[in-house]
Amino acid sequence: MAVIRKPRASGVGMTSDRTRLRMVERLRAAGIQDEVVLGAMGAVPRHLFIEEALASRAYDDLALPIGFSQTISQPMTVARVAELLRNGAPMGRVLEIGAGSGYQAAVLSHLAKEVFALERIAELAAKARHLLVRELRMGNVRLRHADGLGGLPEAAPFDAIVISAAIPHIPDELLAQLAPSGRLVLPKGSAGAAQRLCLIERVGNRFRETEFDPVRFVPALLGKA
Ligand code: SAH
Repeated sequence: MAVIRKPRASGVGMTSDRTRLRMVERLRAAGIQDEVVLGAMGAVPRHLFIEEALASRAYDDLALPIGFSQTISQPMTVARVAELLRNGAPMGRVLEIGAGSGYQAAVLSHLAKEVFALERIAELAAKARHLLVRELRMGNVRLRHADGLGGLPEAAPFDAIVISAAIPHIPDELLAQLAPSGRLVLPKGSAGAAQRLCLIERVGNRFRETEFDPVRFVPALLGKA
């Protein structure tokens, strides 16, 4: 008798749907106000982005290991980043530097026309690409294995850029790739030291910086691995 293996993405059960809705309610209670962002958080099956052994914790507000000493960001941070980038309006082209598991990119794919995501670790990039493009069929996401700190000049300008790894100074190349009125969000600071979520808004050729909540991200590193 033939054994039919269901792809993981179609095995999303009632249990995870309910726990995900509870996560959305917690995000709302914790101050996320953009209903479109909350809708995206409710739509993306976070349990598919982590190892199956940790799946029972998938909808807790925790950063979890994804291998290679990296972590998937906690849902509250992902929602906050999305809310700051979106600023209440649909986005055109978005760039993420540090795709990791691909979860933040998946959330952004619900909020933007096109998402470009860069990841420096080859295995993580390949895994995230497979999940997003093959399993979840997110046709508007492109994931590349690359050092992202130089951005992606050939696809610029971007309406929004997120750096998903901590960095003490923002590279000028990234600022140059922001569209007029573009928004860049990053955890500013060094690994181990205090970091804050920081928003840079482009106003013509000026950049306005606002600091938000303290956060903890893994550091941005140079070069491909
Ligand atoms: N947004 C991710 C979080 C991943 S953690 C998620 O939702 O899962 C940060 C990621 O940034 C790691 O995978 C790390 O390898 C990657 N990274 C660090 N420096 C980078 C760089 N210069 N270019 C691209 N990716 C980088």
